[in-house]
Amino acid sequence: MPKPNSRHPSFPIPGGPDLRAKGWRQEALLRLLENVLSVGEDPDNLVVYAALGKAARNWAAHKAIVETLTTMHEDQTLLIQSGKPVGLMKTHAKAPLVIMANCNIVGQWAKAEYFYELERKGLICWGGLTAGAWQYIGSQGVIQGTYEIFMRIAERRFGGDLAGRFILTAGLGGMGGAQPLAGRMAGAAILCIDIDPERAAKRKAIGYLDEIAPDLDAALAMIDAAVKERRAISIGLVGNAAALYPEIYQRGIVPDIVTDQTSAHDLVYGYVPKGMDLATVKSLRKDGQGQLMAASRASIVDHVHAMLDFQTAGSEVFDNGNLIRTQAREGGVANAFDIPIFTEAYLRPLFARAIGPFRWMALSGEASDIARIDDLLVEMFPDNKIITNWVRLARENIPFEGLPARIAWLGHGERTALALKVNALVAKGELAGPIAFSRDHLDAGAMAHPNIMTERMKDGSDAIADWPLLDAMMLCSSMADLVVVHSGGGGYAGYMTSCGVTVVADGTAEAEERLDNALTNDTALGVIRYADAGYDEALDEVERKGVPHIKLG
Ligand code: NAD
Repeated sequence: MPKPNSRHPSFPIPGGPDLRAKGWRQEALLRLLENVLSVGEDPDNLVVYAALGKAARNWAAHKAIVETLTTMHEDQTLLIQSGKPVGLMKTHAKAPLVIMANCNIVGQWAKAEYFYELERKGLICWGGLTAGAWQYIGSQGVIQGTYEIFMRIAERRFGGDLAGRFILTAGLGGMGGAQPLAGRMAGAAILCIDIDPERAAKRKAIGYLDEIAPDLDAALAMIDAAVKERRAISIGLVGNAAALYPEIYQRGIVPDIVTDQTSAHDLVYGYVPKGMDLATVKSLRKDGQGQLMAASRASIVDHVHAMLDFQTAGSEVFDNGNLIRTQAREGGVANAFDIPIFTEAYLRPLFARAIGPFRWMALSGEASDIARIDDLLVEMFPDNKIITNWVRLARENIPFEGLPARIAWLGHGERTALALKVNALVAKGELAGPIAFSRDHLDAGAMAHPNIMTERMKDGSDAIADWPLLDAMMLCSSMADLVVVHSGGGGYAGYMTSCGVTVVADGTAEAEERLDNALTNDTALGVIRYADAGYDEALDEVERKGVPHIKLG
């Protein structure tokens, strides 16, 4: 039975033992589609996160997807083109049930303005990374990544600890909303600015924000007191980051860490220029897109100038994956790329070993299934400090949103080993229902994103999108249940291509084969991508784990 959802009453959280579809595989994908809307930012408009990342093209497309998932057989494959179902093919029971291609625009045409035109005509939609692939699990999906970034900075600059340290950031949306909790879990005093009071209130309601300060003076006083007492705290503040960052700098305050996760990638549907209220922005989104783009870009220039000032004054400043430096450089900030990207600066050694944001969702809706898998994780990987530390923290701090889910950064072989044990637990009836395994698209072999994931690759292969395409084709031949290729929409048009995958552990021998093939090959390709680019960690992984990399003599 779907559970009532206090956040979006019309979008209940799926769950329960009863199937509406003809099998668990189809039911699983249906529940994941329902889940992304139940935790989405604006489900009435099918928007899940990242300004315009949608679960389906429109409501007619959504209805047809739901009907097809409910009635289709295991030997069929549903084709989805930019959020719209276009065909139901006769394939075979080992083929994926759903394959998708979302927002892939031919190179010379892949520009934000052309995307908006296609969007207006109803010909395309952007799936974000995980929205259109029905893999989004709320802000908890990026929380470990954000936490690991903060901890890498703590190790490098602050003796391994963020107690008594001040983090300044902005953006409390679908993904940015993870920052306050990640900062607090890392022990810091974190100030998060958002222009939209509703977003701040949402993050306070689920416990990610401790307090919302009434104004900047009060916010800085709360941060100052927490820093002096070395007390972890997350404070929200409603305001425009492009105005408030410079003001904080002018007061002579130098935070220890500065970043930003507003939707700066999208100058129309995401970023809010300073000096403009939300009502004006909403009306310009309809009939003043050019004016809005220019105002957003001018505002981002000020925003990034302030970030650069903080950097010069000694803050650790990084781009948190929202294209803010790229937008600023387009606006004339020649040194915007003095700010490093988080992937290259902190996480690349993990990605080079294909360690990345793996996750699983309890399709039963029962939190006890996730608790059982938490125990299993700790039993299986007792010496993996990242995992044992993370599971302890996650259990203590992260409230579930939508279907109970967990994210854990596991690598090659580890993901498969966990998933196979979970499939066996499902088979033995030790879990309340099947578990769906997935991962963020920001994963080793799965993404080409030259200003985010693949910036400054060792061999200069930043913009080569063959890897995610190979990944997707390989995952289809590896029997995954859902495979998707996404490219960028809005401000991301022309900037990225990624691949997503979902595999369902329903306890059957067929699921065992699917999980083994798909998850193993996915991370193997990740290791191969980095080995090919010459990363020592990947070459070591190839040796140690016997990854089938073909090296030219
Ligand atoms: P979202 O659209 O749900 O939220 C963006 C938030 O920014 C909104 O709450 C909005 O009110 C706020 N905002 C916009 N302009 C502002 C301004 N000038 N000052 C203050 N607040 C402002 O988006 P999201 O899902 O939270 O994603 C945010 C960004 O992070 C996107 O660019 C997204 O692509 C990127 N992202 C990065 C990662 C990563 O791995 N680092 C992962 C997912 C998303």
